[in-house]
Amino acid sequence: MPLIIFSGLPTSGKSTRAAQLRAYLADRIAAESESAQKNSIDTDTDTGNTGAKPKKPPYRLHLISDTTLSIPRTVYDLSALPPHARSANAPEKDARASIYGAVKRVLSDRDIVILDGLNYIKGWRYQLHCEAKAASTPSVVVQVGCTTERARAVNEARLRRRESKRKRTTETTEERGQGADTGGEAPTSGGDGDGGQEQEEQEREHDGLEGDDEEPYEPDNWDNLVFRYEEPNPMTRWDSPLFTLVWEDDAEQTRRTFDGIWDAIAGQGRKKVKPNQ
Ligand code: ADP
Repeated sequence: MPLIIFSGLPTSGKSTRAAQLRAYLADRIAAESESAQKNSIDTDTDTGNTGAKPKKPPYRLHLISDTTLSIPRTVYDLSALPPHARSANAPEKDARASIYGAVKRVLSDRDIVILDGLNYIKGWRYQLHCEAKAASTPSVVVQVGCTTERARAVNEARLRRRESKRKRTTETTEERGQGADTGGEAPTSGGDGDGGQEQEEQEREHDGLEGDDEEPYEPDNWDNLVFRYEEPNPMTRWDSPLFTLVWEDDAEQTRRTFDGIWDAIAGQGRKKVKPNQ
């Protein structure tokens, strides 16, 4: 399993880039498999050997993230814990254990695993690197870069949206209660109805986050994660090769970076990995 470890600040665009990379890799795998199929048919025609079995795709693709494992953002929230429990941070450790388990389960030389997440602790990235090595397969790190201000703005927009949704829900509940008390009609819009959804869409458009449906981090949790973030260092074994994508990278630049990642995990640049080195 070549392992692709995403890393970056909270709300910096990691899941967006991970989804783009997944689509790119799915296309590359399909193209490889098609050309392998074609070559085998050509060979069969040469040898006159017909009835060959269809070739399996060279790789299977997996995307693992907090969302796919239903890990809530609160596991990173130290302020939710009593002071004496903060250094142990059991909820986050449990979350890491389930991520580790999920990665390990699909560990094989034929599986490309995209691990979308904060992956902000260098010791944790080291552990993942060692796991890939033990499976004789390469690991790479993709750092998603964006200014702290930009990432904060995304979280703040999500907080605002959550707050106005809560407000609408409360208002609708109150209106319904009044309608029931007076025997009047129930409201036809607002809350989570059509009017509410329309307002949510407008809010997303206003913030430049169309289609965004993710939950925000609580502000203290977000600040704390930024403070705790340990930047990948390409001089270390476990953070290399290191690829960087920034918010402003356009489709062409993104594709170039993805080509580099493909080369490192499946192309000419793929190094032989020995477990005990
Ligand atoms: P993370 O996974 O780091 O929390 P997301 O991928 O969920 O961040 O991105 C947060 C929001 O920012 C999403 O609404 C997404 O559409 C938007 N976004 C992410 N990257 C970009 C980008 N490069 N350009 C424009 N919008 C982006």
